[in-house]
This record gives sequence, C-alpha cells and structure tokens, in this order.
Amino acid sequence: MSNDQRDFGFHTRSVHAGSRPDATTGARALPIFQTSSYVFEDAESAAAYFNLQEYGNTYSRIMNPTVAAFEERLANLEGGAGAVGFASGLAAQSAAFFTLLEPGDHVVASAALYGGSVTQLKHLFRKLSIGLTFVDPDDLENWRAGITEQTKLLFAETIGNPGGNVLDIEAVAALAHDHGTPLMVDNTFATPYLCRAMDWGADIVVHSATKFIGGHGTSIGGAVVDSGEFDWSNGRFPVIANPSPAYHGLAFHETFGTYGYLMKLRSETLRDLGAAMSPFNAFLFAQGLETLPLRMRQHVANALAVADFLSTRDQVRSVRHPGLPNSPYAERVAKYLPRGAGAVFCFDLHGGRDAGREFIAALNLFSHLANVGDAKSLVIHPASTTHRQLSDDELSAAGIGPGTIRLSIGIEDAEDLIWDLEQGLAAIRPRGRQV
Ligand SMILES: *Cc1c(COP(=O)(O)O)cnc(C)c1O
Repeated sequence: MSNDQRDFGFHTRSVHAGSRPDATTGARALPIFQTSSYVFEDAESAAAYFNLQEYGNTYSRIMNPTVAAFEERLANLEGGAGAVGFASGLAAQSAAFFTLLEPGDHVVASAALYGGSVTQLKHLFRKLSIGLTFVDPDDLENWRAGITEQTKLLFAETIGNPGGNVLDIEAVAALAHDHGTPLMVDNTFATPYLCRAMDWGADIVVHSATKFIGGHGTSIGGAVVDSGEFDWSNGRFPVIANPSPAYHGLAFHETFGTYGYLMKLRSETLRDLGAAMSPFNAFLFAQGLETLPLRMRQHVANALAVADFLSTRDQVRSVRHPGLPNSPYAERVAKYLPRGAGAVFCFDLHGGRDAGREFIAALNLFSHLANVGDAKSLVIHPASTTHRQLSDDELSAAGIGPGTIRLSIGIEDAEDLIWDLEQGLAAIRPRGRQV
C-alpha cells in the first residue's frame, strides 16, 4: 500500500507532511534554503515560471522551498488546498483582505478580536475605503444584521479575547454562504489540533505562527490557508474572477480553479506587499508543527487545571475560561473544541488595578509580557499595560475590568504554575471591603 492510499493521523502528518529527505544531499531534516533566487534551467522555463504556466522557484519574496514545506504541512493539518506564509500574522491577514477586497466593499467582523487586528481593521480599512461593522460574535442575529449588499467577507476568531468567545463556526459560515460571501477565521488560539475551522465551513483560515505554531516565543510569522472551495465566480468577486491587470490579464479563478485565490494571494498580493516569511523562521515553524499536538495537549490540560484552581480562590471574582463547565460557551466547546478550549484566558481579581499590579509583581515562573502561545507561561494585566490609557468605562466596553488578568498557560508542571499563582494571590494586600 502506498502513502497516497493511507489516511495518516494528525501526529504523523505534523511530523511528515510537506517534507521528505533532501533528494540531492540526503539530509533528513528540512534544509534551510537561505537563498534569494534560483538558477533557471533555460530561458523557456524561466518564462514559463513568470507566466505561471509552470510552477517553479524564481525569487524568495514569492516562494522558497523551506517556506513551501511549512506551508504544505500547515495546509495539510488544517485540511486546506494550500497555504501561503507571511512575515507576521498581521501581514497574513492584510494579504488575505487585499486579495479579495476592493474600495467600496464591506466586512462584518467580530468585535472580540486580538487588539492588533481591531486596530488593523479600523484604520487600514478606512484608508482603503472599505466599510466595516464590528458585531458581538456570540449571536447569529448580530451577524445577520451587520451584513449589507456590499459585504464581501465575515471575519472572526475561533476563540476570542478577553471573553473566550467561542465562534459558532458552522452557523456563521452558513450565513456567509447564503450571502455569497466567504468566512475567514483566525485560528491562532485553537491551532488545527484543537479545531479545523474548514471542516465546519470556514473558507479561509489565518494564523499568527508567532504563537502556538512556533511555540517557543522565538519568531514572528503568519500564514493564510484556503479551502479552495469558495466559488469566486459567483458574480460578487470580479477582483478574482475577471482578467487581472496586475498579472497581464490572467483570470485567476478560471485558470487555477481550486488554487485561484491562493495563486493570486502569492503571485500578486505577496509579490506587491512583500511581507515574505524568512526561510529560517519557516524552518522553526515547520519544526514547531512537529510537536504541536504534544504541546497543545499539555497546554490545554494545564490551562484547565489553573482555571479550576483560580475558580476556588477568594481573591478571584470570575474566571473566563470557555472550557469550565459553567461557561456560556460549554456547548460550543463540546462541538468545536472537544480536545480542549485553548490555553489563553482571562480572570478577574477583586481589588482592581492595584491588586493586578501586586499580583503580577509577586509571580516567579510566569513572565510578564505581551505575547501568548509560548511553552513558557505568560501573564499580563491589560489595565496597567496594553490598555493603560483607557478609563475604567472604556475598559469595560472592551470587556476588560480594572482587575482583569490574562494568562497564557505554558507546558510546565501544573502544580508549579498553581504554586506560583497562589503566592501571587497571597501578595495582594487586603483592602477592607472588596470591590
Ligand atoms: C498575535 C496575534 C495576531 C497577530 O500576529 P503577529 O504575528 O503578531 O502579527 C493575530 N491574531 C491573534 C489571535 C494573535 O494572537
């Protein structure tokens, strides 16, 4: 039986998909092709590559064999037709948007997005004359109400922040498709190990590889994965279906079918925006994917143990982990995240900003910084850092209280993490009547 006939499991594909021993050198590990460009065999094949009549390496802003191995492995794990790597998660999102949107189009997006994504949508879209409506993602009616004649994309995260909102992917995808519109999902917090959004109808999946995929807090990168199943010739996307003036009249959807969006994303958008993933980072991300399922199991088990512990403490007002049995998202977790509801969540301390500062200052193992998805446990107090310029009213509109703490739980021993949090809680000075 050949490899083609067997459905390999997730762990096997994490290790093997997208790369085989190097044909020239026999190197078993993925080589880092640290090269800007590639020698053409002859003038004809060079022309065929540039005409996209044949697929071949030309220049590493557009494609690179190490980056390609990472792209193929990620696309395989997500169940997509293909993927394109980028220099960061936000570069990947920008490119995904640019490929399908034009001035005058409109996007409906979840309001519970990563802060950098909120800023990107609000300000970049205004400059480009793209309309935007943010909606509370929990209720399908909000999505329905946000859609207009001009809407060309729905966008949300599998697990949002800070509330841990779990998206009803199947329902939102069906609504999008009723309106001839794709659904794009940021799957950074879930990773393909916890959720394959395309299995539930998502058309495009974006990632910040910086987080769990890299897994060790070393490198910035991102990727766009496309299912290849959205019908770009439905009359609403001339930008993909019609001959492209930016690629000597090529009609991407007609020419490449399943790969039309991906080909345009790479050979036009990545070419023009230029935010390419470096081969060295692609090597680290491909290596990160090899251990993704092992790490995610420990991440989610630790996160649930920590959430359980925090739920029992007097200093803690509430714990917003979607995997807790009393979570408003319990039903969606059972459906979409049966292997665990991720490892990034918020909880709220009694005692406001001062309590938050005292708590974080007393921690030893947890690192106080602005990242998530590291093997190491991380903590941040939004009210005194990322959101410190906001008033208490503005914080609460963003779902962040003065005593909200965000944790990204690593792969250490859960008992040690709980020990550390215990001493952080003990360091909060009593404040008479608790608020
Ligand atoms: C970090 C992050 C991003 C942005 O990714 P960068 O690699 O920092 O550009 C987007 N979405 C989510 C959910 C993130 O956590």
